Amino acid sequence: MSGTAAATADGFEELYGAAPEGVWAAPGRVNLIGEYTDFNDGFVMPLALPHTTLAAVSRRTDGVLRLHSADSPQGVVRLDAASLAPRSGAGGWAAYPAGVVWALREAGHELGGADIHVTSTVPTGAGLSSSAALEVATAAALNDLYGLGLSPAELAVLAQRAENEFVGVPCGIMDQMASACCAEGHALYLDTRDLTQRQVPFDLVAQGLRLLVVDTRVKHELGDGAYAERRAGCEAGARALGVRALRDVPYAELPDALARLEAAGQPENVIRYVRHVVSDDARVERVIALLDAGEARATGEILLEGHASLRDDLRVSSAELDLAVEASAAAGALGARMTGGGFGGSAVVLAEADAVERVVKAVESAFAGAGHPAPRVFEATPSKGAHRLR
Ligand code: ADP
Ligand code: MG
Repeated sequence: MSGTAAATADGFEELYGAAPEGVWAAPGRVNLIGEYTDFNDGFVMPLALPHTTLAAVSRRTDGVLRLHSADSPQGVVRLDAASLAPRSGAGGWAAYPAGVVWALREAGHELGGADIHVTSTVPTGAGLSSSAALEVATAAALNDLYGLGLSPAELAVLAQRAENEFVGVPCGIMDQMASACCAEGHALYLDTRDLTQRQVPFDLVAQGLRLLVVDTRVKHELGDGAYAERRAGCEAGARALGVRALRDVPYAELPDALARLEAAGQPENVIRYVRHVVSDDARVERVIALLDAGEARATGEILLEGHASLRDDLRVSSAELDLAVEASAAAGALGARMTGGGFGGSAVVLAEADAVERVVKAVESAFAGAGHPAPRVFEATPSKGAHRLR
């Protein structure tokens, strides 16, 4: 039974010959609304999944790092904590936990070595942030064991630095903040400029609703280059508008901003990207207002609008994601949108509890009819962020 603290501790003991000092959990996440906004200093609204990465960890006094994942065929990776170097490519998957050790040391924290064994129920590469779960579980363990006294948000920032600088992936802060800071029964409203956060009640079950995740199990290769291209386009848009980041363009001024970009001869893709980012920031605020008013049902429409914007303006969707959204809506879901970076990965679907079966069947048969691989569909109950299990 992988995925339990006891099994992870047992796995650790088999590998390293002694029980771990403790076991920590950190969840994957889905983002409800606010996509490609986090590198524009904007707003996001993720929730933690019940799927977690568990890290069984013990300290070492000799500065050696031993890293093992039940999901990697690689065996135990052995590194020296003091000589970790960014983007050295050292260790493949192990760069994620090693990067956390590096980032903690870079931040001046006294840290010896560690033995680490991880297991995970977070699907990898599905846009559900298995990478952040792995980083945050590692960071939470080292924070507790070495008595560093860092807050969840501080751990998230260090985990992001590990992924950006050590692994070399230019991700925003949302994934790590979600994995570190989410609360059960809530979505996390996050201002990615100053990391202001608020837990927004999102108890779907009490309202007779369900949130489904459709993992398309497809990942298109163009994703990486497209992310950098969207990011550069957004930065160009902000520069042309004379703002620090697109988050500084109020939604009420969007038509005027778009007209100015056009008059200045900005390329049409930059104009589309600006329209997406500014309108998605506004969608986050609209969703929050509805949730605060106890009107979760009404957020469905906003999810659909968000999907159209990602598909038509940012152009980061895929045939599978569009089909998941269309089939869900046609089967009576309240709303749906792609979530995460796109080009495959996952979609979220909001539905009445009694419509779930119909929606799932509709998505599955639409995928079969289109010749796509069978998607993995599961329910996302808003779960809690990183915590110690034993
Ligand atoms: P996502 O975060 O959306 O799942 P990423 O591409 O950001 O996708 O991260 C996936 C990578 O993270 C994997 O290819 C692997 O290197 C690493 N990873 C995540 N979880 C684990 C795990 N439990 N064991 C080993 N590697 C993992
Ligand atoms: Mg990731």
